[in-house]
Amino acid sequence: MTLDQWLRHSQLPRLEARMLLQHAGGYSRVQLVTQGADPLPEAVAAQLDILQARRLKGEPMAYILGGREFYGRWFEVGPDVLIPRPETEHLVEAVIGHLPANGQVWDLGTGSGAVAVTVALERKDAAVRASDISGGALAIARKNAETLGARVEFALGSWFETDKTSSEDKHRFDVIVSNPPYIEAGDEHLSQGDLRFEPQTALTDFADGLSCIRELAQRAPEFLKEGGWLLLEHGYNQGTAVRQILTANGFAEVSTQQDLAGLDRLTLGMFRHVE
Ligand code: GLN
Repeated sequence: MTLDQWLRHSQLPRLEARMLLQHAGGYSRVQLVTQGADPLPEAVAAQLDILQARRLKGEPMAYILGGREFYGRWFEVGPDVLIPRPETEHLVEAVIGHLPANGQVWDLGTGSGAVAVTVALERKDAAVRASDISGGALAIARKNAETLGARVEFALGSWFETDKTSSEDKHRFDVIVSNPPYIEAGDEHLSQGDLRFEPQTALTDFADGLSCIRELAQRAPEFLKEGGWLLLEHGYNQGTAVRQILTANGFAEVSTQQDLAGLDRLTLGMFRHVE
């Protein structure tokens, strides 16, 4: 069988078939075209059978390939972390836009580290802390930071209660950012597509979808500098609720931003300790 023949016979969508063939055989995109008539080595064919079967059972491409591109860089991912979404690039841009020179950032629930690592690389002047409750996630985030050459301080723990949290963190951060679990318990999306394979604790709060956002909004002021910003990603239908939560917790200049699809995607607010 040739490479072309394998592609034609694959039961996967064309793009996915090509991605698996490149991954398994180590071919570039150009090679797939120019060497299409070459025979497919048997070892590659055998591996492709396995990868294709995994995909046909619904496993996300990112887990099969071992990574996903985010903000133009390759991030390693695995079942311990959420797959970075293109919408989350807006969160990165919002962080960068609200960070003063030599600013301090804390990314809570960092997962693969996509947000923290990208901010650290885009803003070499920033001091970035990234935390997660999952040791497995933190290991992947650490690896991504190392591979990509980002300087990030990692902390293990639930939201603000981490092994690095100290009294010096009081009113220390210019920006606190999170893409927390915000899908409501029982939401049909949790049992569809990629989400079936992603860590449920990274997707849902097993409640109304807003409990983590409430906790972050309540505790963030303790760690924010005067005039510091809290930036939260959330679901397309949560803009109004998140603005209310931020306002109720004393944040000012509260606003929601849309993603490229025109859907509410993140809400931010500024905190002043003195009136
Ligand atoms: N944006 C993700 C989704 O809709 C959810 C991410 C999250 O809960 N933080 O699939």
